[in-house]
Amino acid sequence: MKAMVLEQLADIHTSPLKLVDRPVPEPGPGEVRIRVSCCAICRTDLHVIEGDLPQYRLPIVPGHQVVGVVDQLGGGCQRLRVGDRVGIAWLRGTCGTCAFCSSGRENLCDHPRFTGYHADGGYAEAAVVPEEFAYRIPDAFSDVQAAPLLCAGIIGYRALKRSELPSGGKLAIYGFGSSAHVVIQIALHRGCEVYVVTRGEKHRRLAEEMGAVWVGERASDMPVRVDSAIIFAPAGELVPPALESLRKGGTLALAGIYMTDVPGLEYEKHLFYERNVHSVTANTRQDGRELLEEAAHSAPRDTLSASGRQPSVAGPEERQNQRDRRPDHRLTAPHAGPVTRRFTCAAFPKSLRAWGTAPLGAY
Ligand SMILES: [Zn+2]
Ligand SMILES: [Zn+2]
Repeated sequence: MKAMVLEQLADIHTSPLKLVDRPVPEPGPGEVRIRVSCCAICRTDLHVIEGDLPQYRLPIVPGHQVVGVVDQLGGGCQRLRVGDRVGIAWLRGTCGTCAFCSSGRENLCDHPRFTGYHADGGYAEAAVVPEEFAYRIPDAFSDVQAAPLLCAGIIGYRALKRSELPSGGKLAIYGFGSSAHVVIQIALHRGCEVYVVTRGEKHRRLAEEMGAVWVGERASDMPVRVDSAIIFAPAGELVPPALESLRKGGTLALAGIYMTDVPGLEYEKHLFYERNVHSVTANTRQDGRELLEEAAHSAPRDTLSASGRQPSVAGPEERQNQRDRRPDHRLTAPHAGPVTRRFTCAAFPKSLRAWGTAPLGAY
């Protein structure tokens, strides 16, 4: 099969992934192999490639938002069958026995394993995954729509949970990348009002088009007090104004894997009245299942809209058409030129440009 392999850590602008032929992987006990139909790109892939995370294994096939169809079962598999459409996400293994795994918090497991980091990921024609960590993909989504949900979507969903947004409440979102534009759709579906602060004009326009009741450039301009807030931008200076805009008892979730230092807080102004701050770390499998189920019932929009395409609501018929068109599916990201169906981009056209594209045949 063909695969895009990282042999040495390097700046993304040097196009470090190499297209190679390698044997199709065999699923081990408890694993399934999927024939990959698409894989979205995540910022964490860039961290892996450029060595921002401690080097774990080389060579490695990155990519952890993988959608495909099961084509072989390893020994002992019981949950999935050949032909099932499934997704592979970042989390692909936990120890199952540490204090966190034993208390429903496997996102904090002491010994987690990640796709495209500890084991090969989805920039290839086939990938294997423990069946317990594969997600069934609801029919409501095309492959391409489903892929960005598997990381950007799941993290956004976990952040939304951690923000404790009450049904019908007001939510403030700071930063409007791929996670945020999945969150806004879920929040609106729950009957909530969404207020968005983001610096990019294009992102502000997109937030408005997607139904935000207010969109602004500066956190200090927030026009109302909100029940919940999520900061997706990696900017610690947003924390004080975001706390200030919370109602009594409100909760701020910090969704980033990285954030600059948070400035000093004033107790009365920022924290008193039982205002809460929750950080967000990875996700549990339950988060992923819940997201896919809720998104399937939320008339999902085209999840590629963060790359600059107009969002559109796909009805069931249109979605089926999209799936039927899958074999020839080609996407155009505005800054990246044509993108093959194998390597789709939710939000990082810059990385795609550096990556280049590689049409792959069937193995
Ligand atoms: Zn990711
Ligand atoms: Zn554990």
